[in-house]
Amino acid sequence: MANLPPLSFEFYPPQTQEGVNKLKHTAKELNKYKPDFFSVTFGAGGSTKERTLDAVFELSNSDFNVAPHISCISSSKVEIKELLDQYKSKKINHLVALRGDNPSGAINSGEFNYANELVRFIKLEMGDAFKIDVAAYPEVHPESESAKQDFINFKNKVEAGADSAITQFFFNVDAYFKFIEECQKSSINIPIVPGIMPIYNSKQLIRFANNCGAEIPRWLRFKLEDYADDLDSLREFGVDFISELSETLIQNGVPGIHFYTINYSKTLSKIIKNISQS
Ligand code: FAD
Repeated sequence: MANLPPLSFEFYPPQTQEGVNKLKHTAKELNKYKPDFFSVTFGAGGSTKERTLDAVFELSNSDFNVAPHISCISSSKVEIKELLDQYKSKKINHLVALRGDNPSGAINSGEFNYANELVRFIKLEMGDAFKIDVAAYPEVHPESESAKQDFINFKNKVEAGADSAITQFFFNVDAYFKFIEECQKSSINIPIVPGIMPIYNSKQLIRFANNCGAEIPRWLRFKLEDYADDLDSLREFGVDFISELSETLIQNGVPGIHFYTINYSKTLSKIIKNISQS
């Protein structure tokens, strides 16, 4: 993978033993590309806390570098501190620190409102025990009142102590490059790693994009709809398109690529093979 920037792969914590076995297989397959780390998501409001811990320890026991996601919404400081202590005791030294989304209908009864407060808390309680990644939104976070305010809020996370950032997925590379330009102008010098979502399934992708505010360009939406019931052709098209997107990012010197895997390795392996040959 000599010509590739550092890669990382995101997993979600499986719900069944079959899912656990699949995750172990996926991790083994993707480990062939020598990733910097695997990350494991944390369900809204702590809903997957135990499963996230299990998946993180399963992976770290297999000697993989793992960065657990921690979301702070609906959590108390005591709960977060306990989690941090658990990770530190297991020699985990990298986190993805997030606010998270409110579980539907739940009232936020926690002690944190935004991710910058979580980053500050981790620094205060744990010093430099963890490298901290935060989320970045080149296409603007969907709840934000304005792009300007969203950028200020992002800067607050960096000033609170974030070491690097991973973006929400996007299909418009210009949005990413503009965001990087804005960071440079504002003296934000941390690495901002693009998050890339391979195309596995049209309906699922459109749903994810609608929820997180990622724009699907008109032409791409039509393609996704055309291929809807033809998974083989969709994935073939998706591999080519995501390979080209990744190549453009690499040619422009991105500091890494973070792939959202949804616990699949096959499609991603084809993309990585393509981009390592280019
Ligand atoms: P924040 O940075 O706190 O921002 C949330 C919103 O609040 C933004 O609109 C921001 O502009 C605004 N804001 C920030 N500070 C203030 C302030 N002081 N006053 C007013 N508004 C403010 N979700 C999960 O539940 N689990 C996961 O594991 C997970 N992993 C993710 C990984 C990545 C790489 C990314 C990009 C997202 C992930 N998400 C995850 C989704 C994320 O939790 C949601 O996008 C969530 O809505 C925002 O989280 P955040 O950490 O970006 O929040």
